[in-house]
Amino acid sequence: MTPLRLFTLLNPAIGIVFATVFLLLWLNQRNRPYILLMSGASAAYALAVTAQITIPPMPRVGLNTMVSAVLYQSAIGLFVEAMLTRVGLVDNRRWILAISAVILGAIAYFFYVHDSLSTRIYVQNLGAGAMLCFAALRLRTAPARKPIDRVLFWVVLLTGLHFLPRTILTMLVDVPAGMITPENFARSLFYSLLSFALVILALLLCLTFLLAVALDVVDDLRRDRNEDSLTPLLNRRGFEEEAGRRLAGLHGAPAALIYCDIDRFKAINDSYGHAAGDEVIRAVGELVAGELGREDCAARIGGEEFVILLARGGLDEARALAERLRLRIGELRLGAVKESALTASFGIAEARPDEPLDAVMERADEMLYRAKRGGRNQVRA
Ligand code: GH3
Ligand code: MG
Ligand code: MG
Repeated sequence: MTPLRLFTLLNPAIGIVFATVFLLLWLNQRNRPYILLMSGASAAYALAVTAQITIPPMPRVGLNTMVSAVLYQSAIGLFVEAMLTRVGLVDNRRWILAISAVILGAIAYFFYVHDSLSTRIYVQNLGAGAMLCFAALRLRTAPARKPIDRVLFWVVLLTGLHFLPRTILTMLVDVPAGMITPENFARSLFYSLLSFALVILALLLCLTFLLAVALDVVDDLRRDRNEDSLTPLLNRRGFEEEAGRRLAGLHGAPAALIYCDIDRFKAINDSYGHAAGDEVIRAVGELVAGELGREDCAARIGGEEFVILLARGGLDEARALAERLRLRIGELRLGAVKESALTASFGIAEARPDEPLDAVMERADEMLYRAKRGGRNQVRA
């Protein structure tokens, strides 16, 4: 057995290993259906290679040809769907099935009607390459792309592109059109090169995808750790990380911190229940989130207490923002708290050059305390 032929046997082994790895991962992460699709793609790939090796070529019956073609096409289709679903691009199944049907139809035609192995090789390989390239290009339209998505884009695009020169070159060098038969095909340089290239590329694709899944999970954990569960804002921990970093990166540019605390919130909870209180918190959180610029960040840091880092202005801008929020909170009309008027108090502190976050927070908190003492529903700076 030549070393190149060895890859023919390595291929299904790799497929089975990744099908198992992705299946186990999915059992742990059921909310990510793309992992199951990837497991299916790996299994279909392993079965495709196995079918190609084990089913004897039978003229006119075409079991080897058609079974392996369907399985290869399923592997590519499932992989493409997994990759696009992962980045939030849905509704791909229809075009994947349509293109797959065209490719398989052409392969059946060039077996049963007009038997030509070389044409089938072109159709199958160039079809697979085109599908991967198209999927890679679609990947670029995904809404929120991470660095790993760029890596995945290149790996998929290069895998897709490699089908073209490899198919043409090996067909020209090794098996001039018309001279290829199913018997010498399995021993051809084309087939060995195909197996070799597929082992490397399948490994690369699976490993890159596995890394992408791992990073997705880590991202979600980080989000859970830093984000508030009730509002679209950060929690205290997330705010300390994020605001600390932004404050340190200001290099003397003006910034201010705004504390906001809903007035007499305990009474709202007592009169209307905890769920109504939550609705108030959520509504105020959304108001705050709606006022944030790209450079700002905000958090809910206590039960009904919010903090905003305004990184695009100093005291005056902060005062204007706090006033606007105070008025808008007063205008909130929520079913859960009937006609009760909501008010909030605000404390503001401008960040001094190189002042650490906790020192600014302390001064803003002091101002909030004064606003409360001064009768609530007001801004103090
Ligand atoms: P003040 O005007 O001085 O701010 O009075 P207050 O009643 O708003 O302030 P206090 O700090 O005494 O009460 C805050 C209440 O918020 C007490 C707590 O039960 C409630 N709380 C804390 N977290 C949550 C939450 O996540 N949801 C709800 N519904 N209530 C919460
Ligand atoms: Mg309060
Ligand atoms: Mg409070």
